[in-house]
Amino acid sequence: MNQTANGSRPDQRQARQAYLDLRSWLKRLEETGRLAIARRETDLQFALAGIANRNDGERATVFPHPSGHSGSVVSGLLSQRAWMAEALGIAEDELLDRFHDAEKHPLTPIEIADAPCQEVVHENDFDLADILPIPVHNEHDSGAYITAGLLISANPRTGAQNVAIHRLQLSGPRELGALLLPRHTLSFTDAAEAEGEDLPVAIVIGASPACLLASQAIVPIDFDELGIAGALCGTPLEVVRCKGSKLLVPARSEVVIEGRLKANRRAPEGPFGEFPQYYGERDDRHVIEIDRVTAREKPLFHTIVGGGLEHLLLGGIPREATILAAMRRSHPGVVDVHLSRGGVCRYHLYAKLRRREAGEAKNVILAALAAHYDIKHVVVVDEDVDIHDPTEVEWAVATRFQADRDLVLIPGSQGSKLDPSTDNGLGCKTGFDATVPASAPEFRFRRIRVPGEDEIDLDAALDASVALGDILS
Ligand code: MN
Repeated sequence: MNQTANGSRPDQRQARQAYLDLRSWLKRLEETGRLAIARRETDLQFALAGIANRNDGERATVFPHPSGHSGSVVSGLLSQRAWMAEALGIAEDELLDRFHDAEKHPLTPIEIADAPCQEVVHENDFDLADILPIPVHNEHDSGAYITAGLLISANPRTGAQNVAIHRLQLSGPRELGALLLPRHTLSFTDAAEAEGEDLPVAIVIGASPACLLASQAIVPIDFDELGIAGALCGTPLEVVRCKGSKLLVPARSEVVIEGRLKANRRAPEGPFGEFPQYYGERDDRHVIEIDRVTAREKPLFHTIVGGGLEHLLLGGIPREATILAAMRRSHPGVVDVHLSRGGVCRYHLYAKLRRREAGEAKNVILAALAAHYDIKHVVVVDEDVDIHDPTEVEWAVATRFQADRDLVLIPGSQGSKLDPSTDNGLGCKTGFDATVPASAPEFRFRRIRVPGEDEIDLDAALDASVALGDILS
């Protein structure tokens, strides 16, 4: 086996450590030249998000005291796929398997008494905007938004916790507006509301990379995503009980906002710049009343700018893991799947299929479209195509696909309501079979190749000491 630069062998890579909180991961980014520090007093309105966007995918950014605020903001912590793997202490090609494994074997969190996230307690008569530097991101956003808050709640019937990220509009000194899509938080809220009760919630900001990723897992109701966060790191997550409720929150996070989703109250929320690069509309939505904020000393406020790589990848990778596992159950020949960036890590799925029976690529298309309603276009390719390189996938469509033979259209099916080309989510699913036909003569689709090209040591093969003039004279 080849030795890597630091001398570790690929089969020993499990030994690497996960980063168990935001601060240790930020230090790692700084030590490796991937952290930028903005000038003090960057404007919380637009300028902060603009700088974060310009650094997106290259460097995380820390904003000390934006707009003169006493706090500091950080963005772009996980804006590359490879960084997410590194934060979990694994190799990039292990991400999907590790995530799926963590869903199958979650680790129950461990409750501790004294937690960093409760060093400081704000109660009575505070203003959220004074405590937390909450930015305004996009041009037509309705105002300041908390975008990287893990909203933790518990099923009023079973007590089981749920973790999810919801966009949260700053609506008043101690009030947030929340968009709850029809998933677990909403079903808990509905259950509480049916009894006329508010639903206690905790909004956790500045949790570990593993907690952020775990919050996006597609798992059944009553499955606490914090168990996945522990399993992703190979060690149970430390949690602490909230001051005002039974909810358990990651102990080493930066800020915890404690409050209640109000029964039978709705107020205007939005518009807000969302992951497809369009605005989500304004409407009457749920309201959270805030009772208390606990935090570390000098907490860091994490913000995710809508539509940036951090936003897209956090949603994309857990989906890929779930979709791959679902597809493999019927089609073990599916080697890998990828939700491409151009498809906002939701709408375009590339699937790599091992040499197969005639027609199997079409079945794989149907399995992919059934795996998640957000998936709109599926491209199935052979094993020789790199599905993480959009140019490779386009090449396969260009040279192996014929629409009259290889196109699958399923009109009138359910898609993403945030895709503005749909009729409120109703749209057409499309599959592209870009695999080589099973009956094709072997040489017709043989990829050209220069023997030995990949093994060439280019530095050794080139001569930097000779100039063009030496050759021409
Ligand atoms: Mn859930």
